[in-house]
Amino acid sequence: MASEPEPTRADPTRVWLPYAQMKTTPAPIVVERSEGTRFTLRDGRVLVDGISNWWTACHGHSHPWILECVEAQLRCLPHVMLGGLIAEPTARLAERLAALLPGSLGRVFFSESGSVSVEVGLKIALQYWMHRGHPERRRFVSFYGAYHGDTFATMSVCDPEEGMHTLFRGAFPEQILATLPDTPERVRAFDALLAARRHEIAAVVLEPLAQCAGGMRFHAPDTLREVADACTRHGIPLFLDEIATGFGRTGTLFACEQAEVVPDLIAVSKALTGGTLPLAATVASEEIYAAFLDDDPERALMHGPTFSGNALCCAAANASLDLFEREPRLDQVAAIETQLREELAPCRNLPGVVDVRVLGALGVVQLESIPSPSALRERFVELGAWIRPFGDVVYLAPPLITPPDDLRFLTGAIHRVLGKTG
Ligand SMILES: *Cc1c(COP(=O)(O)O)cnc(C)c1O
Repeated sequence: MASEPEPTRADPTRVWLPYAQMKTTPAPIVVERSEGTRFTLRDGRVLVDGISNWWTACHGHSHPWILECVEAQLRCLPHVMLGGLIAEPTARLAERLAALLPGSLGRVFFSESGSVSVEVGLKIALQYWMHRGHPERRRFVSFYGAYHGDTFATMSVCDPEEGMHTLFRGAFPEQILATLPDTPERVRAFDALLAARRHEIAAVVLEPLAQCAGGMRFHAPDTLREVADACTRHGIPLFLDEIATGFGRTGTLFACEQAEVVPDLIAVSKALTGGTLPLAATVASEEIYAAFLDDDPERALMHGPTFSGNALCCAAANASLDLFEREPRLDQVAAIETQLREELAPCRNLPGVVDVRVLGALGVVQLESIPSPSALRERFVELGAWIRPFGDVVYLAPPLITPPDDLRFLTGAIHRVLGKTG
């Protein structure tokens, strides 16, 4: 690649980058445009996006319908505060999410990031138990491999080892860390745990079918079913974090559908606006919501982000839902899944590879270790692929509209780069 000029990079000294060691991380590459599966860099080079801009760009980048709807909204009402006023797209989006989500999930609280939407779900669970006369129920059960966000309450329900927050242990309350009930023995152990500690537990929190940022581990719909059944047996609310899995990624619109599980609370974000604007929603069941209805103003949900229900973000999300209605996204996911299985399977024979797994439009190649994920990322960039290894995994979560040729290019890049690491 010596003949290729280096892509233009920004001076990194002012922007403090997320999860980046600023002393050694390569300076970020300046992107000028994005369209479909591609980023166009300032120097004209192109990168094929293998990770949907961190799982957000489900319809590809800059989808014309989303842009059109956001532009129209921008011209009439970019934002109105939700404290007594509301924009039409906000009300409409809540109606549509309620119609799409299973069971009675239909009371929608809007925030601007996934972490905050989980934070709000945890708060709802705590307040639910206060209203029911059980303020002592304030602990959460989460699972090894979990990642639920970077804010303080969400850090407390991440896996302390995998969740990137080991440093902060002790700065937030200890929660209950459980093993997923994926064998009969573990089903019994999980049940015993809930039976023993139910009187202090406010909710069980889980990323259904795929634990993502905590190591890209998958579990079967039966395991999710076991978690849900145990919660029902012991009267504990189930809070599913579908921030990464929601909107088609695992093959169904929501991952919980595959286990026919209806949680009491759900959080969605990443692909909610088709990757254009920051928006998240925490959605509660009727039963949870009903516990807040009272003449006492103190029993209101005590949360209120300044930009809650922002009109532009909601217009983008409505446009994204239009696309799910009009275009065959879930068929596209099925086709991507088949192709990922075929094309990633041979990676099993590459040096250092310990596992290859695919779920919907999500393909994972796990290695013994990756000494320098950022060095690996640079090798992908040299080939024209935007693939971002972390921990011990190289993964693809491409836009759901990715055509076969682009997908082949991405899987080919993984073969080429990993073939050379041994
Ligand atoms: C990304 C993610 C979050 C956090 O969302 P942010 O928007 O980054 O705050 C929470 N849970 C899951 C499962 C995620 O993938």
